[in-house]
Amino acid sequence: MNDCIFCKIAAGEIGKLVYEDDYVAAFDDLNPVAETHVLIVPKKHIASLNEIDAEEHGAMAGHALAAAAKIAAERGLKDGYRLVSNCGAHGGQTVMHLHFHLVGGRAMGWPPFPEE
Ligand code: AMP
Ligand code: ZN
Repeated sequence: MNDCIFCKIAAGEIGKLVYEDDYVAAFDDLNPVAETHVLIVPKKHIASLNEIDAEEHGAMAGHALAAAAKIAAERGLKDGYRLVSNCGAHGGQTVMHLHFHLVGGRAMGWPPFPEE
């Protein structure tokens, strides 16, 4: 049984999608860190960036990037935005279904080490 929460959201079983195509779905983050905080996920379960195969997932990855730009334009993020995928423990990944955070609506710092 698949009890992955992002699989259920991407399948439209729970929550509300803000974008979908054949490969990816997008929805608002439950705990937004900015005015716009959307998660873009593959419809087929992939645990993280570590599982990406260029041949198998290339179309999905392309659609995820294009979806990010489309959603950013729809949200009026003319001053820019950030697209990030946290991978593994050091990356801060907490949900083991690949996702890209699209964050915008405020200026962000770099590098991302606020505790230092
Ligand atoms: P990460 O820490 O990079 O794995 O990001 C996981 C993100 O998923 C966090 O920003 C959470 O707020 C978000 N999240 C967890 N559960 C849900 C949910 N049911 N619906 C929407 N976003 C969620
Ligand atoms: Zn999943």
